[in-house]
Amino acid sequence: MQEKTARETLVDKFGRRVNYVRISVTDRCDFRCVYCMSEDMQFVPRAKILTLEELKQIATAFVELGVEKIRITGGEPLVRRNVLKLLRDIAQLEGLRELTITTNGSQLQRLAKKVRAAGVRRLNISLDSLDHDLFRRLTRTGNLGKVLQGIEAASKAGFEKIKINAVILKNRNHLEIASLVEFAIQREMDISFIEEMPLGMIGDHDRAEAYYSSDEIRSDLEERYTLIPTSETTGGPSRYFEIAQTGTKVGFISPHSHNFCDTCNRVRLTAEGRLLLCLGQEHSIDLRHVIRSFPNNQDRLKDAIRQSMSIKPQGHNFDLTEQPVIFRHMSATGG
Ligand code: SAM
Ligand code: SF4
Repeated sequence: MQEKTARETLVDKFGRRVNYVRISVTDRCDFRCVYCMSEDMQFVPRAKILTLEELKQIATAFVELGVEKIRITGGEPLVRRNVLKLLRDIAQLEGLRELTITTNGSQLQRLAKKVRAAGVRRLNISLDSLDHDLFRRLTRTGNLGKVLQGIEAASKAGFEKIKINAVILKNRNHLEIASLVEFAIQREMDISFIEEMPLGMIGDHDRAEAYYSSDEIRSDLEERYTLIPTSETTGGPSRYFEIAQTGTKVGFISPHSHNFCDTCNRVRLTAEGRLLLCLGQEHSIDLRHVIRSFPNNQDRLKDAIRQSMSIKPQGHNFDLTEQPVIFRHMSATGG
């Protein structure tokens, strides 16, 4: 079908088209993963968190501005009350091509079918270990059995694709790499390995010491499998390979070893309505202020988003050997 008028697009001052938004719907979580949070987290007061209506209004503005892909994240998005309604509303926005969600899996046994029915076609589930004790140590409060039941429920719920995400830390879970890949192969899921990023004080480990690079992971895997590079890109810091023996896609998200900022196509909305123009920088605008000062004024909101493009930085400069320069945690950022 031909579109009536050409859709507007968001372009930053470096000529990068922004067509992907990650929306954090809560900074709260039932886990306390050691790379993501400190043990004793202070959460944002509820009045400062965007309401579901405000989240929908902002998502609508982005789609009207040409955004084609939205990822719902957090914190743990599935602990936000009535999140299913928000998913349904966003899935119906005309012009949106893909709605995805990133979850720790703890609520999926109960919610997988409902999330699928709400219009989410692809799912990312975080899973860093298949060993019950190690899983507990990495998540501090997580229950692996419950997550595995959730993954089982998700695989029966009819998602088009499920991807496992694993953050790998040296001497913690780097020996889990092969079994996580086997787990994904057996369930016809894809898998991505993530290098830890220095966001927020975590108080658990020295991030430089725990650094395990994507190249190390790749060479571990090449002892067992043939990895064929693919040209697939999501405009982010991921590179994808295919396991020749099984066709499983393996992604490497390498903010340190392979910087892909020059093709960055995304921005992030925090649960309190800060629009972050770069994961590794503090450049942001306060969309909550805009919508609470000018309620139901979609033009004002869209103007603020358009203007934010002029401050999207060229790239991040993460350094694991320094104290984090970004004090917000990944859970507050919307990973
Ligand atoms: N709670 C959900 C989950 O864990 O999937 C969604 C939010 S979580 C912040 C999104 C992703 O960010 C997860 O895959 C998590 O492993 C990853 N993550 C959290 N902290 C990170 C860090 N410091 N560096 C790299 N990845 C991180
Ligand atoms: Fe929660 Fe996800 Fe952060 Fe773990 S990574 S503490 S599950 S938000």
